[in-house]
Amino acid sequence: PRAVVAVVGRPNVGKSTLVNRIIGRREAVVEDVPGVTRDRISYDAEWGGRPFSVQDTGGWEPTAKGLHQSVSRQAEHAMRTADLILVVVDATVGATATDEAVSRILRRSKTPVILVANKVDSNKLESDAAALWSLGIGEPRLISATHGRGVADLLDLIIETL
Ligand code: GDP
Ligand code: MG
Repeated sequence: PRAVVAVVGRPNVGKSTLVNRIIGRREAVVEDVPGVTRDRISYDAEWGGRPFSVQDTGGWEPTAKGLHQSVSRQAEHAMRTADLILVVVDATVGATATDEAVSRILRRSKTPVILVANKVDSNKLESDAAALWSLGIGEPRLISATHGRGVADLLDLIIETL
């Protein structure tokens, strides 16, 4: 069976955009309005001759508490079922309370976790992204899912970690 890479994080951080980059096709639905991704959709991917599947997550609830719960549930599910978890954070926004709640859960994860700082479209945003070390889940890996910046390095790290 293929190794499973789960992509988690709050709505609108660019999870589906990253999934499309990883699979090299535009199959995951990207929306300016949060909430369009159905729960957990799996896609076949491959990098450096290594096949794996990548699982997009979505769903959202309108209240802050609901959002915490929904994203936390995604993270808990990923801890039980995935071989690697990518936690995506929007570097232009910084760490939100939901990002902190999810990170707190993932600090206990036996499944390896990679922190992805997305929307680093230019060098100017690199210092904002570095602040995400504060989440306590390791080094923020800086990418721009829309521009493709940093995605090849991230994929190298993914297959090294799997
Ligand atoms: P999801 O809800 O986490 O799946 O996020 P989406 O992939 O649907 O993206 C939400 C919004 O963020 C869309 O408008 C994307 O075009 C935008 N977005 C995603 N990645 C980037 C990025 O690297 N840079 C910028 N500037 N915008 C991005
Ligand atoms: Mg999505």
